[in-house]
Amino acid sequence: MKSKLLEKAFDPSEFKQNGYQIIDILSDYLQEAQQNELPVTKHHKPENELGFWNRTFPIDNYTIYDPIKIFKSIIDRSIHLHNPNYMGHQVAVTAPLAALTNVLTGLLNNGMAIYEMGEAASAIEKITTEFMCKKLGYQEGSGIMTSGGTLANLTALLAARSKMIEKDVWTKGHQPKHVVLVSEEAHYCVDRALRIMGFGDDGIVKIKTDDHFKMDLDELNLSYQENVEEGNHIMAIVGSAPSTSTGAIENLNGIASFCQEKNCWFHVDAAHGGAAIFSPKYNHLLNGVEKADSVVIDAHKMMLTPGIMTFLLFRNKSDSYQTFSQKAQYLWADDHSEEWYNYGKRTFECTKEMMAVKFYILLQTYGEKLFEKYVDNQFDLTREFAHIIKENDHFELATEPDTNILCFRYLSPNHEPNSLNTSIRQKLFNTGEFYIVQTKLKGKVFLRVTIMNHLTNKTNFQKLISKIEELVLLLKD
Ligand SMILES: *Cc1c(COP(=O)(O)O)cnc(C)c1O
Repeated sequence: MKSKLLEKAFDPSEFKQNGYQIIDILSDYLQEAQQNELPVTKHHKPENELGFWNRTFPIDNYTIYDPIKIFKSIIDRSIHLHNPNYMGHQVAVTAPLAALTNVLTGLLNNGMAIYEMGEAASAIEKITTEFMCKKLGYQEGSGIMTSGGTLANLTALLAARSKMIEKDVWTKGHQPKHVVLVSEEAHYCVDRALRIMGFGDDGIVKIKTDDHFKMDLDELNLSYQENVEEGNHIMAIVGSAPSTSTGAIENLNGIASFCQEKNCWFHVDAAHGGAAIFSPKYNHLLNGVEKADSVVIDAHKMMLTPGIMTFLLFRNKSDSYQTFSQKAQYLWADDHSEEWYNYGKRTFECTKEMMAVKFYILLQTYGEKLFEKYVDNQFDLTREFAHIIKENDHFELATEPDTNILCFRYLSPNHEPNSLNTSIRQKLFNTGEFYIVQTKLKGKVFLRVTIMNHLTNKTNFQKLISKIEELVLLLKD
């Protein structure tokens, strides 16, 4: 006998009924969040949050929970990126159509490891990655999509190793005396990727940054020479576009020329800033990226899609196939051929989400202008905010913004600056009215905003500044 429960769980009319209600709830959420009628966050301590969810879990066999109510609770107790006072981490404020596409890809759930398990999604991945290669300025590039910048950086560095180190590390293990040079401000995942690859402390050389937190090219040269003298082989140099803490985009042209001269792999971590390729106004910041061997761009940061989906693009088509060469005979008829359509040959993932579809739907519906307008709007706004900070004597800017990330701090003669700014950020968070973060730059604590929401404007900035000043007044000297 067919299970009634299974029938119910897969019933199209139940899906439809839930779907309509869920869309109603989500569009109400969108409206309220965008109009700042919901706090950015209703912060609860971890133990209290756990307590709330524990009270209704595990379910007994007698209580039936209404999924709609659960949806509402989750919305209520989550951070609201669509509120213009959200200025925190670099996570996309999703375009609603891309979120709807999540429903489509979630229901279809094509596995993508092999072509047969996602024919449309595989073709769309090829079209979108090649489109991104063209935007970068690659003539004959090729790429993949993978689950996040962290994994994409690891995949790129593995490709670099496979290409640049003659001994086959994949099968024969790691040979010592190989190093990678990377800015001290690079995202921690680059360090992590290299440690996973067995580079260890000595294999990861951190290059000092200049006053604008960008890799210092003299230091790069110096460090390169030192390593050569020690007999080390420089496998790759990693540039950040931008580095996460400050949003500063490094001198990619300078690093690219250096890499060309020295015959090093040049990898650019453009997880956050890569979307600037869409902006004629700001794409000059990425000059030189077209000379990189590999580039990482997160769509779930500056390209309005839900997490997680990352472009990993290679200048040389065949490099895209460098990373993995292990056998998986049951999946592929021929292990060694470069079949674009079997994405599992090139990605960490076996089962993979139909990622490219979310970007594709935005691109096809709104055109690439959408990304241009978004980048321009966010980068312009951040420059306006920097201007407001500079006009105010209480505040100090870490450096002029390249992107939509800005670091600043409050200075007061009565307080030690690091603890003052840490305390400001904590108190601000507790109000739930704004969400900003903090970072430490060369030993100094800075408040840090990333202007991700297109609705954030001058008034939000002024209110944030007033709120900070108000909180400082309440602090005891
Ligand atoms: C966010 C970020 C990463 C990490 O990417 P995930 O998608 O969060 O894994 C890596 N590098 C830079 C520069 C970033 O901004």
